[in-house]
Amino acid sequence: MTRFIFITGGVVSSLGKGLAAAALGALLQARGYRVRLRKLDPYLNVDPGTMSPLQHGEVYVTDDGAETDLDLGHYERFTGVASRRSDNVTTGRIYSTVIGRERRGDYLGATVQVIPHVTDTIKAFIAADLTEEDFLLCEIGGTVGDIESLPFLEAIRQMGNELGPTRSMFLHLTLLPYIPSAGELKTKPTQHSVKELLSVGIQPNLLLCRSDRPIPSSERRKIALFCNVREEAVIPALDVETIYRVPLSYHAEGLDVQVCRYFGLASDFEPDLSVWRNVTDRVLQPEGEVIVAVVGKYMKLRDSYKSLAEALTHGGIANSVRVRLEWIDAELFEREEAGRHLSHVHGILVPGGFGERGAEGKIKAIRFAREQRVPYFGICFGMQMAVIEAARHLAGLENAASSEFGPTAEPVVGLMTEWYKGEGVERRANDSDLGGTMRVGAYPCCLTPGSRVRAIYGIEHISERHRHRYEVNITYCESLQAAGVVFSGLSPDGVLPEIIELPHHPWFIGVQFHPELKSKPFEPHPLFVSFIRAALEQSRLV
Ligand code: GLN
Repeated sequence: MTRFIFITGGVVSSLGKGLAAAALGALLQARGYRVRLRKLDPYLNVDPGTMSPLQHGEVYVTDDGAETDLDLGHYERFTGVASRRSDNVTTGRIYSTVIGRERRGDYLGATVQVIPHVTDTIKAFIAADLTEEDFLLCEIGGTVGDIESLPFLEAIRQMGNELGPTRSMFLHLTLLPYIPSAGELKTKPTQHSVKELLSVGIQPNLLLCRSDRPIPSSERRKIALFCNVREEAVIPALDVETIYRVPLSYHAEGLDVQVCRYFGLASDFEPDLSVWRNVTDRVLQPEGEVIVAVVGKYMKLRDSYKSLAEALTHGGIANSVRVRLEWIDAELFEREEAGRHLSHVHGILVPGGFGERGAEGKIKAIRFAREQRVPYFGICFGMQMAVIEAARHLAGLENAASSEFGPTAEPVVGLMTEWYKGEGVERRANDSDLGGTMRVGAYPCCLTPGSRVRAIYGIEHISERHRHRYEVNITYCESLQAAGVVFSGLSPDGVLPEIIELPHHPWFIGVQFHPELKSKPFEPHPLFVSFIRAALEQSRLV
């Protein structure tokens, strides 16, 4: 019997609802419960796949090939539960489902309306694909009061009614701003936000109040009184030095105990949170520091490389060092010498990316890493650019390029129009839609015996998540191998190069997939552990 916890946010956006949900998930797990986390996004895009990372942050990819909201990354990093396509839905998808049914005539002549047709579709989504979970934590994107999220709020209100209080709970995250001239934390925005929720029929059961300083008990009492909740149900969510402290901090404020009490579950024991203590200690008390340059394109919004930044931190946790990231816009190297900006760094990473802008700058950074023997990690686009760099400067193919940038004489990276997935063949046309047409999701890869990646992973067959349209062109394999590039990971049919490496370099690896998506603080991804170790060795040289 799954219990549903609905998580809404008020006052302002960016309060960290996703993190709050993820941290509560981790705490419930520590109490022995099985959890799943899910997110409802109010925008009209069918999925975030076609949105610029600068608009909405990174696109998080699941094993089953869904392009989802980055909060699902937090969920996975905190709980270790692999997200699925059924864990993220947008208004766009809900509406396209409803309209598809209407066109097929499924509604048998009825007038199709937001209530009940849209809300029923939302409710069916929330309750779908659950098996043994004790808790489903369902986050509603956006801020209470937005026009866009109304159908979602109405759907969860109905579900709360149908399930009753023993199986449903409403948790509302708000902000208590500090007003320096008054020297006070203000509760009014929280009161208004709860009023807004009440106006759509939802009485929150728990309030999680973000604040940059301790909340005096007088203010907690006031919030309880005005918002119609018990005083213990007003839980301070104070700013912390690292996101990995959030579960510990919420636990110290009694969040998990209050949730258990609400549902009548045993709460009189201390859950084992040593994993989180360990991770937090390592993040806050590193024994050294390495500098890694991330040479990319979407530098204005840190969230566009969320999982990557976290995975690098995890690599640091495993090596007991702090990883200082220098975010460099690749276009800089089209104007200035790479060496001017990279000679002090201990590792260079070119992450995933789309389009030609900045590509030549990335290639320059990669050339610098190869020639100066600085550890290099290329992810997806970063692998493709590394192959182009090697083709041009090691294999003598001056015109090597990617067909992503237009027709080219040497398509070292090209559009694959056909490949095998499981039993079947997947196909893409040159002019197919941009949405939902990439090689996306988990694919198997075989590692070459004796290669560096084979040693790093310690196993021969791996599965990693992809999200790209272009591939390194296997027909160039021989000339690249002759120039010293080792193809150390291939798809099982041997057609798709998944990993390349340079064996005579201290650490030079490019991967066609996104290993950052599977890294967790308590289970850092082996490639990131190894890359940061190489950067640490490099830091002892420079
Ligand atoms: N733009 C490249 C492609 O579509 C790489 C994509 C990526 O880095 N995720 O293949």
